Amino acid sequence: MTSMKKSRKWQAALNSLFVLSLITAGQWGYADEADGFQSWLVTVRQEAVDLQIAPAAVDVTLSQATYLPRVIELDRKQPEFVTSFSAYVNRRINPRVVGKGKQMMQDYQGVLYVVEELYQVPREVLVAFWGLETNFGGFMGDIPLASALATLSYEGRRAEFFKRELFNLMRVVEREQRYDSPVVGSWAGATGHMQFMPTTLLKYGVDADADGKIDIWASYPDIFSSAANYLAQAGWQPGKPVSFQVVLPAGFDYSQAQWQLNKPVSEWVKAGVAGVPDSALNLPQAAILLPQGYDGPAYMVFPNFDVIMQWNRSVNYALAVGLLSQQLRQDTYTLLMPPEPPALSYQQMWSLQEALNARGFDCGNPDGFPGAKTQAAIRRYQASKGLPQDGYAGADIYNRLTAQIQSAQ
Ligand code: CA
Repeated sequence: MTSMKKSRKWQAALNSLFVLSLITAGQWGYADEADGFQSWLVTVRQEAVDLQIAPAAVDVTLSQATYLPRVIELDRKQPEFVTSFSAYVNRRINPRVVGKGKQMMQDYQGVLYVVEELYQVPREVLVAFWGLETNFGGFMGDIPLASALATLSYEGRRAEFFKRELFNLMRVVEREQRYDSPVVGSWAGATGHMQFMPTTLLKYGVDADADGKIDIWASYPDIFSSAANYLAQAGWQPGKPVSFQVVLPAGFDYSQAQWQLNKPVSEWVKAGVAGVPDSALNLPQAAILLPQGYDGPAYMVFPNFDVIMQWNRSVNYALAVGLLSQQLRQDTYTLLMPPEPPALSYQQMWSLQEALNARGFDCGNPDGFPGAKTQAAIRRYQASKGLPQDGYAGADIYNRLTAQIQSAQ
């Protein structure tokens, strides 16, 4: 018998032992899904071993993996209404949150000072992420990550993404020798104070207190250093701003307000943009964002804003990080959001996309989410009607387009 055959036979024996251990564990109540899930785990086990992940880490991780229908429910669940920027910020930032953040900055000022010196990322920014991700460590999630990631990968909508995270969770288990207690986190597979995915943890985690472990669940030096290391490596520009609110002049060309449509600050000022601090006048690169359309607040955003978008690709989230860090830096609370505009449902958003497509303003396949393509289609529609070209998918544009469809019928 060749050595390859021997090792295959050995693998097969291990696989059947592994299946046996799952069956005897008897930890599922959803027979049909669970049957398929268990045999799927066997193939995942083989793939992981082929990737040279330590079999002990593979087995301990997969033995923790239970099929969780609730994770699929949460993944598929779509809120009924699209959250406006004002509503998003009002739900996350208020005087109580800022007060708690300031208290935390005092409680952890020693370690925050060291991390800020080392990585050149401001402590207020680190604490803003901390507040938005887990309410300053108050809620980190308690779902075994192996179950969350295996369920999401098995279900298949983003199978490869979650399988890669599952393999990297095994690598975390291997590196950290986490054989006793399972890694837990959110249903979407994020873990620790800063809600890192396993891949992020592997790539950017730092053992700042030099105890041999990267502990993003309990070691504050490790927690803050890992987040700061992520931001530094993503291109954080020390001493530069994230964003600030500006005032646009009457007659401003709203089609210029787009993420990553960058110009030197001096050019924006020449175009009449007001409220720019002197310290920012010479910065070479800034964009204008209108998260709630042309009659909502306007923000000037800088390359550090783009770094935050790498952490979480959501304009509302990235603006919230900037706003919260600004409030943490100030003595008094000054954040005042405009009234929340009427919310559009996802169904209405879908209809809006259909209406745009029907009129030749291509949004792609309707999906209920106003992404870049939908915004561009709205801008073209607005241009054709002589309207402010802010690309904002709000109630105004919805009423206008659906009313036209009704009157055309
Ligand atoms: Ca450590």
